[in-house]
Amino acid sequence: MSLVLVANRAPIRPTPDGWAPSLGGLASALLPVLEDRGGAWVAMRGPDEETPLTQTYPPETAAFTVRRVPLEEPEFEAFYQGMANRVLWPLSHYLVEHVEPDRSFRDAYRAVNRRFAHAALDVARTDLAAGREQPTFWVQDYHMMLVPETIRAGLPDARIGFFWHVPWPASEVFRILPSARDLLRGMLASDLVGFHTEGYAENFRESARDLLGAKVEGETITFEGHRCRAESHPIGIDVERFEGLAMAPGAAEMAAEIREDLGGVQIVLGVDRLDYTKGLLLRMEAFERFLELYPERHGEVSLVQIATPSRTGVPAYDQLKREMDEASGRINGRYAKGAWAPVRYRYQSFDQAELAAYYQAADVAFVTPLRDGMNLVAHEFAAVSAVCAERGGRPGALVLSELTGAADYLDGAFLVNPYDADGLARTLDTALDLPETERRARLSQMREAVRDLDVHVWAQRFLESLDAEGED
Ligand code: UDP
Repeated sequence: MSLVLVANRAPIRPTPDGWAPSLGGLASALLPVLEDRGGAWVAMRGPDEETPLTQTYPPETAAFTVRRVPLEEPEFEAFYQGMANRVLWPLSHYLVEHVEPDRSFRDAYRAVNRRFAHAALDVARTDLAAGREQPTFWVQDYHMMLVPETIRAGLPDARIGFFWHVPWPASEVFRILPSARDLLRGMLASDLVGFHTEGYAENFRESARDLLGAKVEGETITFEGHRCRAESHPIGIDVERFEGLAMAPGAAEMAAEIREDLGGVQIVLGVDRLDYTKGLLLRMEAFERFLELYPERHGEVSLVQIATPSRTGVPAYDQLKREMDEASGRINGRYAKGAWAPVRYRYQSFDQAELAAYYQAADVAFVTPLRDGMNLVAHEFAAVSAVCAERGGRPGALVLSELTGAADYLDGAFLVNPYDADGLARTLDTALDLPETERRARLSQMREAVRDLDVHVWAQRFLESLDAEGED
């Protein structure tokens, strides 16, 4: 059966020589599935884009169609910068102080979701009119919560899957939203809703029960006569791609250069979008605490923090940028000596080949979000460090926040509470001194988990579960 994907971002982007897959795991996981099954990907066309509203891809086979829903500036602002980034994102990460509910955000969100759903319905109706089978729908993430409901109203027997890529908070937190019930109703029109962990799926089922009085039996939620399953389907990375980047010609040299540029000190690495969910300020404070507690480490260890610009123009993000500049300046001002700087802060975007070199160069990856649906950087680090260690390189250790989805799966990481500066400092000290045999043992444990969750397997497992719907 063909597939209609509905996601905020398109799977392909214009390049100087034509079109290329978009960056990120989702496009790399789903493009082969769409090429195989055929169908369409419905995505947004932002106000500054000049991409076509409809195009087929890849050019040689025209295996599927990309359809774009054009958004004008005010609508984009309210739907995307507003409802998605300033309401749903902080709420699902439990950062309630950043939530800014606003009636105009909510109205724009509803209107835009309707347009996405109608574009998806159009594709299905064209298929049906041409005598083809009705496609399966797969809706992605918190930008699209109301899409399943509109698809269901247009095609009552549609098969609809939904994947939620961020945490689903406790029902008591989700209910803070004035539109909580409407949004839940919108999603419950799906047949299957997937989450990264069983904990998030459980929170979703509880929200349906508490807020709408839905009946929950096992994984199944029954609401207004319709059954929807909420299941855990953890996502991972494209493992082969990352292992390939780590082993590519020049990668080891790039890693050696990074170490040399830093004067041969031990490297503690952070890689994040500059986002308040990532725990960056607390991480800086914890590293400062580490320097206070272990003066013998001065001159021997640096924190390399890559912080990729993100959502600039949103006030909370601009403020975080200022606070990070201030924190890195303060720590370096206090402790730097000679050529050694304790913090190497890079407010830049890196491509993944460069990131793979940083992963390879690092002694410890310091991944301490306050909340994170999964956290793919942790997977990427484990994959790269494991493959390099296997080929004689130095194995790294992973310090990971227990408030990430990845913590459920990556046995072998040191789990930490990201709010506990003393605990983070002490764990960092332990991880830096970890004997090589234990590093190797922990890495091989993590590698197994990373491979199990490979993003291609994720897509297959989800679709198998969705396709199995109604076959019993
Ligand atoms: N990333 C990147 N360049 C950068 C920083 C990050 O390509 O400069 C990628 C990184 O490799 C990872 C993703 O962005 O695949 C971040 O995913 P994660 O789940 O850790 O966090 P998110 O940004 O989705 O919240």
